[in-house]
This record gives sequence, C-alpha cells and structure tokens, in this order.
Amino acid sequence: MKKENSPAETPAATFADLGLPAELLSTLAEVGYENPSPIQAACIPLLLAGRDVLGEAQTGTGKTAAFALPVLARLDVAEARPQALVLTPTRELALQVAEAFAKYAHHMKNFHVLPIYGGQSMVVQLRQLSRGPQVIVGTPGRVMDHLERGSLKLDGLSTLVLDEGDEMLRMGFIDDVEWILEHTPEGRQTALFSATMPEAIRAVARRHLREPEEIRIRAATSTVAKISQRYWLVRGVDKLDALTRILDAEETLDAALVFVRTKSSTEQLADKLAARGYAAAALNGDMTQGLRERVIEQLKSGALDIVVATDVAARGIDVPRVSHVINYDIPYDTEAYVHRIGRTGRAGREGAAILFVAPRERRMLKTIERATRQPIEPIALPSREDVSTLRIGQFKQKVVDALADPEMDAGFFMDVVNQIVDENDLSAHEVAAALAFLAQAERPLQIGEDGHGWEVATSAPREGRPPREEIFTTGLTTPRAPRPNREEILARRRAFADGKLRRYRIALGRDHGVTPKEIVGALANEGGIEGKFIGQINLYDDFSTVELPADMPADLLAALARIQVRRCALALRPLAVDEPLPERDRPFRKTAPRRDDGERKPRKGKRDFAATPSRKPHSPDREKRRKFK
Ligand code: ADP
Ligand code: MG
Repeated sequence: MKKENSPAETPAATFADLGLPAELLSTLAEVGYENPSPIQAACIPLLLAGRDVLGEAQTGTGKTAAFALPVLARLDVAEARPQALVLTPTRELALQVAEAFAKYAHHMKNFHVLPIYGGQSMVVQLRQLSRGPQVIVGTPGRVMDHLERGSLKLDGLSTLVLDEGDEMLRMGFIDDVEWILEHTPEGRQTALFSATMPEAIRAVARRHLREPEEIRIRAATSTVAKISQRYWLVRGVDKLDALTRILDAEETLDAALVFVRTKSSTEQLADKLAARGYAAAALNGDMTQGLRERVIEQLKSGALDIVVATDVAARGIDVPRVSHVINYDIPYDTEAYVHRIGRTGRAGREGAAILFVAPRERRMLKTIERATRQPIEPIALPSREDVSTLRIGQFKQKVVDALADPEMDAGFFMDVVNQIVDENDLSAHEVAAALAFLAQAERPLQIGEDGHGWEVATSAPREGRPPREEIFTTGLTTPRAPRPNREEILARRRAFADGKLRRYRIALGRDHGVTPKEIVGALANEGGIEGKFIGQINLYDDFSTVELPADMPADLLAALARIQVRRCALALRPLAVDEPLPERDRPFRKTAPRRDDGERKPRKGKRDFAATPSRKPHSPDREKRRKFK
C-alpha cells in the first residue's frame, strides 16, 4: 500500500486527517497502520459524512478498514441493537471482517460484532443476536433466514455494506442481496465494494444507493506493485516436478497457495505434495466449511505450508505468511489472476507470484501482463544441483538446530548411538552417516539425473515402482468422464450473471402441482434444451420462472411456449425486468451454488432436487502429515 504509487489519488497524510475519533486513532497506532491506503483515504471521510459509496478496488487494498473504521466512528455503543450490517459472500470472509471490526474496536467498551453464517448452530446464533450486537457481518442466506424469522431486526440499521459485490454476483447471491436491501430502512447509508464493476453490480448500485460517490483505485498501483511476478514456460519437465523444484529453491518461501482449476486437482496435487514430504492440503468448495476453516487456520499457524486451492475456495483469504502464489493452472481470466495473486503480499509484506504457462497459453500471459500493467518475467527452473545444494544446507541446519533443541534428551540418544557403535564395531561417523541417510528419506539430498530423489522416497524401490501416472505429464487431468460438478454449476450461474441466461415466465406454478423436475424434463425432452442451459427454477403459486439462454430464436421460443405439462401449455415468455415477483416467497433453487452451503435447510414443501455436490471424505492422515522444513 504505497502511497507514492498512486499519484492520482492524493491521500491524506494520516488517519487523523480523515476525521476519525481519538480512540480509533490510538488503536490504529497499536495495530501498526501508519497511513491510510488510497481506498481508505478516499472512502473514510465520505462514509463519516454519511454519503453512499461505490468503491472499486482490488483485493489487498484495505477495503475492510475503509468501511469498518467509519462504521465504528458513527456507532452508538449505548444502543444494543444492529446499527450496521456487512454482507460478505462467504463464511470465511464474514469471520475475517468480524475479526477486523473487533480489532479496530479494541478500545470501544460495550461494542459487539457478530458474524452470522450458515452451518453455525441457530440456537447459538439466536442467543448471540439477543445480546444486541451493534454490527452484524453475515452471509446473505443466513441473514435472510434471521430476517424471515424475525430474529434479526434491522429497523435501527444506519449503514449497510456489501463487501465483494462481484463475488456475490458470481456466486449467484445477488437476488438475495437485493432482497435484503429491500428489507432494510430506506434512509440507511449504503457502501458497495467490489474488485471489479460488472454492469450487474452497477445496476444494484443504481437501484439501492443514493447518489453514491464513486471511488476507483486502480489495481496496478496498489496490490501488484508489492508482488514480483514471474512465469515458467512449461516444457521438458512436468508441472509437478517443476513445482517441487520451485518450492524447494525459493529462498523467501514461507507459505504458498497453489491454484489449480478443478476440485479434483486440488486433492490430487495436495496428496502428491504431501507424499513428497510437504505439509500440504487441499482447499475446495466440496469440503465442509469446518474443514476449510481448519485448513486456513493450519496455514496461518504454520501447521501447513502449502494449500492447493481453486479460485472460488481461496477468494478473500488473508493469511499474511503466504509468501508465494503459484498459478499451477493458468487462470481463465485476468480478473481471476489478480484475485489469486492478491492472496500474497498481504499486510504490507512482499509477495511472489509464479505462473505456469503452457506454450499454447502464451496469449493469456500477454493479456495478464497488459491487465496488470507490469511485465511478468520468465524464469528458468532451478537445476537438480541447485535443489540438492539447498536441501543439504537445510538438512545441516536441521541437525544443528536439533542439538540446540531443549526437547532433545541428548544423553539418551547418545546412549543409543554408543550402543550401536559398541554392538556393531562401528565408528560414530558411520552411525551418523546411516542416521543422516534415514533422516533424509522423505526428501532425498541427492537427486539423480533420472529424477530419482524428486520422488517419494517412502514408496516402493525403483525397480518395483509403477509407471509414472499419466496425470503427471498432462497437468493433472482426470481420466474419468467429467460429471457435472460445482464448477459447472458455477459456470452456469456466471452465464446468467453475464447476461447469457435470462429469466422466463411459465404459466404453471405450485398450485398446478408442477415440480421443477417436470419443468426441466419438459424443456429437455420436448424442447430439446440441454440441461446445462437450464438455470435456476423458482416456483410461485400460480406461475414459475426459469433461467434459459437469453438469445433463443423466436421459433424455438414459440415451440417452448406450446409445450404442455399437466395438460397446461407452458406459455413460456421472457420475464420483463420490472415484472413484480411475490416477494416473501422464497424461490426454489434448482442449483445450489452457495459457497456457504449447508446454510439453508430445505424448507417444507421445497425439496432440493439438484444433485448436491459429492463430498469426499477427507483423509484423516492429512492431519498427521509432518511438516518438513
Ligand atoms: P481487501 O479487503 O481490499 O482485500 P483487506 O481489508 O483485507 O483488503 O486488507 C489487506 C491487508 O492490509 C490486511 O492484512 C490489513 O490488515 C492490511 N491493512 C489494511 N489497511 C492498512 C493500512 N492502512 N496500513 C497497513 N496495513 C493495512
Ligand atoms: Mg476484503
């Protein structure tokens, strides 16, 4: 967050200049923030003055404090009721933002912030809500649940913040967000933050913000400047080997986030790395929230060094010790790239981003360079000798450290060594050499020309080793036939967000006894529309809505309109944008794109017929995997 990098913004020199109260200023000094970041300098005075704000800034630019500080400054702690509500797309982010509030409010007596999200016990949440927290940070689904139950009352709300607006959109939460906006007092102040400003987010701002001040902080100036960006052109060596060499040879490596494209790849790659002695684990949307959170905690605490994640699962993670982001699979777009590398260089630290680029992906590399307005430097892979030398250095250090470790009962081990020496007529050097050999087994110090030594030393002897899996050479593609998965469901949601799908009205609803399954069946079998083009279906009493491609030809539309279900024509037609929908009637979701899944229990009479993503049991021994450093 270097001020000099953004000459266009002329941020005030200090937090005090922004008009923050003394108690917050002293906390900020304790927290160690010296100067406001550009987005903070721009937003804090506006929000303090009660203005609405539409803020566009990349990850890592300090958006949380940009809204949390003015919210805290304007609170009345004597009032034990919700005065500010922050909506975040995920549980992890809700927790992070709530933590930030608690941190900044350190000197404010009687201040309470409450994160609410799915998966957490309702009973506990109800009890916590009854204590009257002044700030609620929640995921849209659970906030709606509480509003519907009446357990969350927002009539005293003065500020509403939408954090990560584009992500809400991407996850398909935007309808929920709008519903919440419609159920909060009209006179409230609203701030909407987003890393990018797609049209759909602007539309939300137009509908729900009052003469917002638009603040835009350009990516290249803030985030990217602290992050060194390099790429390795994939050739010769397979990606897994390249990754381990890089992990071994990067001197500044503390913790790394490795990005891959699919959930199955996260598991496979994490397993391969763990087998090679790295403290690695997967992070993906199929894991329960509890597990995901534990992985992040372990990364924070140092129990894990490497997390292999999908874009969606890693979004918003703020773990300062992540020194490296490795783009193992190239991202689909520049936006994803910026979000990925924003996971490093946190809290003012240096970060490194390394991108694996296959020859045919070079075009994307150029696009990314243009978007980040910074060259991405090519790197050569460290040689086997480089890595050997590094491993030997680390090994020597480990031995010396062990001798200084108070936990080591040196006398006892000396005895054991003496016994080996005496019983076998060996020299202590010979015994030491044997022990060194045993101790390096997980990560051999010698790496043979044939690549022996990169591999798992604990596996079968070389002769008996099975042929290298195809997976290694193709960059982790699953041989199995792809099944529709969460990724696809998300892609579908995105298609809707991009305007590729739109909502249509059909003349049958719950009163006709129709089910979403029947609607899908009719559209697919009689209309010839592939399931993947059928988005969310909402059942209302006497009609329903269904998401279908926006650009269907007129004759297809006419044919679809004539299809009959339960002896009634569908009478399908595009739903007008401003067509009223019954409000309190919660729509039925065909897909379950929630990242905070588990959030909403199925309600009576509303079955979820969408295939829930399969949950692989998480291997328990991942917990036990030793850190090897
Ligand atoms: P964003 O929401 O824009 O991605 P965050 O609010 O998560 O960014 O902030 C990123 C990191 O920067 C956090 O670790 C936060 O503590 C730190 N940070 C925020 N503001 C400042 C500041 N003014 N000075 C130093 N560090 C800051
Ligand atoms: Mg944020």
